[in-house]
Amino acid sequence: MKYFVLLEQREGVIKNASLDVWNTVQHFAQASNDIDIYGLIIGAGDVEKMVKVCRGKGCVFVVGDEKLRNYIPSAYTGIVTELVVDTGALNVFLANTAMGRDLAPRMAMRLHAGLVSDCVVEAGGKGSLSVSTTMYSGAVTAVAKVLSERAVYSLSPRSHRPAMPSGSNVEVKKIVDFSMHHSGWNPVLKKIVYHTRRKDIAEADIIVAGGRGVGGSGNFAMLESLADALGGVVGASRSAVDEGWRPHSEQVGQTGKSVAPKLYIACGISGAVQHIAGMSGAGTVIAINRDAEAPIFKAADYGIVGDIVEVVPQLEKAVRAHSGHH
Ligand code: FAD
Repeated sequence: MKYFVLLEQREGVIKNASLDVWNTVQHFAQASNDIDIYGLIIGAGDVEKMVKVCRGKGCVFVVGDEKLRNYIPSAYTGIVTELVVDTGALNVFLANTAMGRDLAPRMAMRLHAGLVSDCVVEAGGKGSLSVSTTMYSGAVTAVAKVLSERAVYSLSPRSHRPAMPSGSNVEVKKIVDFSMHHSGWNPVLKKIVYHTRRKDIAEADIIVAGGRGVGGSGNFAMLESLADALGGVVGASRSAVDEGWRPHSEQVGQTGKSVAPKLYIACGISGAVQHIAGMSGAGTVIAINRDAEAPIFKAADYGIVGDIVEVVPQLEKAVRAHSGHH
């Protein structure tokens, strides 16, 4: 059996979400001896160096070209599908990031493959895969079975990261002869980078998220400060984004990003299904809300009923005292 993993890079670094996919597939290989794993990184600069983070076994193809530094849908689709066909891999995996969400259906279409997006894949015994996905904003879990010979799976981020396999026999193969047949370059016209100092919420281990209950963009300074104390980042509900208090890049939820931090602190967020859908992969959830009946408490491991203006600074004080930074 041959498995193919598309590894996504941003600014020359493999995304954690992609590395999780790689490690997940490595675990399948440990369970069964007859699995070959192929990886692919498309990017620019020293692409071979990026492979160093991949542990386990298999062969990682690298395609490097200055023109491929940023994601170009048609070019990336062409390169990855050609390699999938060349390797004969029937199961193709990628992370359900913004890029993955865009690329997976293009790949499935080109490969005449079935697609399960935003799913969880586990080893189902005897080399089979057990695939599940949530629907209706997380209200229903559906078990998926792909009937076509080839399948593309975009995996949801999870806070329970698969362990890194030990040792590395990863072979690196540089592909120099690749075709860039695609319809136009879809050039990147403008890159808007928010909070360069901070991590992308989709990659963060700790998120302090704020909703309408934060009360205004100025009050988000409290959340920033708490996030700083914890070494985390700030996220937001759609209401906070719609109010213009936070950029869309920080929105958690169905129409924002899916996040999988170890710790998620929801401040002044009611807990609408569309919000929960984006944070259900989080490890420990703490909710702070002045309404004891707010649905967010059902999704939380710890709840604090109170006004965020009082609770958040106290929490920060306690964190700083605990970590010794006054
Ligand atoms: P509210 O629902 O207004 O809740 C504010 C909360 O703050 C309340 O629970 C209140 O008790 C509490 N509060 C108020 N003041 C304080 C205070 N001083 N201290 C403590 N607590 C306080 N939403 C998302 O978040 N992400 C999405 O991606 C998303 N996608 C959507 C897609 C669709 C198709 C639709 C229809 C909706 C989507 N929504 C999304 C919107 C979602 O339905 C909710 O409207 C939204 O999540 C509510 O945001 P909120 O919790 O910040 O605000």
